Amino acid sequence: MSARIIDGKAVAAELRAGLKARIAGLSFAPGLVVVRVGDDPASGVYVRNKDKAAKEAGFASRTIHLPEDTTQAALLAQIAELNADPAVDGILVQLPLPGHIDTQAAINAVAPEKDVDGFHPVNAGKLASGQPGLVPCTPRGVMHLLKGTELRGARAVVLGRSQIVGRPMAQLLLAADCTVTIAHSRTRDLAAECARADVLVAAVGRPEMVRGDWVKPGATVIDVGINRLPDGRLVGDVAFAEAAERAAAITPVPGGVGPMTIACLLENTLDAAIARR
Ligand code: NDP
Repeated sequence: MSARIIDGKAVAAELRAGLKARIAGLSFAPGLVVVRVGDDPASGVYVRNKDKAAKEAGFASRTIHLPEDTTQAALLAQIAELNADPAVDGILVQLPLPGHIDTQAAINAVAPEKDVDGFHPVNAGKLASGQPGLVPCTPRGVMHLLKGTELRGARAVVLGRSQIVGRPMAQLLLAADCTVTIAHSRTRDLAAECARADVLVAAVGRPEMVRGDWVKPGATVIDVGINRLPDGRLVGDVAFAEAAERAAAITPVPGGVGPMTIACLLENTLDAAIARR
């Protein structure tokens, strides 16, 4: 293996420590509220991890856990209450929501200035038009991991075009002066597209789909994918061992992008608090 391993755990820990130091200098604790509806088991783990990390960094963090049969109207009323609460700086509606709730309606209900997930159309629009706003946490985390990588003029390929990862990722790379290609399930010859990438970001949710020979020698490879194999192993969207033979730098799974997402949620919450107060 020749690639440098990008240690997301270490970068995230450093970021959280920096936030903690900044919060210690404030006269208030920035408030983060996570709204969870129902009992999706994976969400339970995510929500607990967010709450723990937030409290450790000095945020006033709490979770509102609503029952599975909560109506859409009741959820929107809860969000409206949080929008109006001056002590709340960041609101995160944990996805997925139960099937009877319109997810977009819930996202749209969060006040854009408290939308620490960065999913509200106002924030997506700001990102697309180059205005400052709240940026989705995972792509923001990837940009931290790319510090030190030459982005100006680099060819970047983003695999995946979701609202949560692929699209905002492409916008951030564009803003950093990359020449950006967005690839997806209808792209012809993915391997050839990827092989041109100086920076390759994989966010498709397909275990080890990106093979070693898709990677340009010397490229930086960021693997956003988190996939659980039938044998219980956690792998990314990139065949790590093969890709690491050719890449200059690569993120592992776990321990790469994953830890950055929560750290950037906290960073967004502090940004939101400072902008509001
Ligand atoms: P989505 O399922 O919303 O989007 C997947 C994207 O990949 C779509 O744009 C889809 O294309 C594309 N795609 C799917 N299959 C193929 C294929 N065979 N070839 C080319 N493109 C394909 O996923 P997310 O963006 O939400 O998440 C992507 C991955 O990142 C998942 O593994 C998820 O678990 C992980 N993730 C990790 C996070 C972290 O904290 N590290 C946070 C969020 C997600 P099309 O649009 O054409 O359907």
